Amino acid sequence: MKYLALAILLMSSQAFAGPKLYVFDCGVLSLDSLEMFGLTEEESSLKEMFVPCYLIEHEKGRLLWDGGLPKAVAESDGPVTIEGGSMRYTRWIVDQLADMDLSASDITYAAYSHLHFDHAGAANFFLDGTVLMQTREWNAAFGGGEFVDTTLFDGLKEANIALIDGDHDVFGDGSVKLIFTPGHTPGHQALLVMLKNTGPILLSGDLYHTRANRRLRRVPTFNHDAEQTLESMARTEQLLSATGATLWIEHDKALADTLKMAPHYYD
Ligand SMILES: [Zn+2]
Repeated sequence: MKYLALAILLMSSQAFAGPKLYVFDCGVLSLDSLEMFGLTEEESSLKEMFVPCYLIEHEKGRLLWDGGLPKAVAESDGPVTIEGGSMRYTRWIVDQLADMDLSASDITYAAYSHLHFDHAGAANFFLDGTVLMQTREWNAAFGGGEFVDTTLFDGLKEANIALIDGDHDVFGDGSVKLIFTPGHTPGHQALLVMLKNTGPILLSGDLYHTRANRRLRRVPTFNHDAEQTLESMARTEQLLSATGATLWIEHDKALADTLKMAPHYYD
């Protein structure tokens, strides 16, 4: 009996406790209006968007999900002006990871919801592992046209890229999945993370920019394909119902203000 209890104890101590999800502050966007996101002042008076980076730790490796604003913003003394607003960034993601004794070489996989500057700002600094990329995003980025400024991520051309078409199970056990949600960009994707204690979380990239965009099913004016976006929204809502997952709208600053930041984590 004593040995059985010991065996069970040993087995349970070795069992994988499921992935851990770390959230990083990778900047803030200040906006004069949300007109380009398809919202009037009456519909949303939001003036700030949070910019996250995430790290998922799994027994089979680490996944960096979204890379925040460009390094130059973190290096700037004050806010950096952009059309219709400004952006700021306190501590560069590579330095935040170093605070946790992690470097780019510790990152097994990097994946970006899409290649806009506020999600792939650090893409050139995570080239040691494998980059999981939708074929359609890759073609839009390097096939000419869709992305005007590719300098933020042109290092990807030399990286080990795994091209994906559709959903993808990152570690092969169903705990971390890329969810193909095109429309905002041609190869936009979201990330479903099955956390044992917290429950499933869906990180929605820029499928929705704000809660009002979700409530009103409002598509930003600059999206690649409005109809495709609405289809991805419908598919995502079905997935949320089917899995019971909690949706984290990545740019939702009110949500971010309630989340624990790395080195604290969700499991
Ligand atoms: Zn964004």
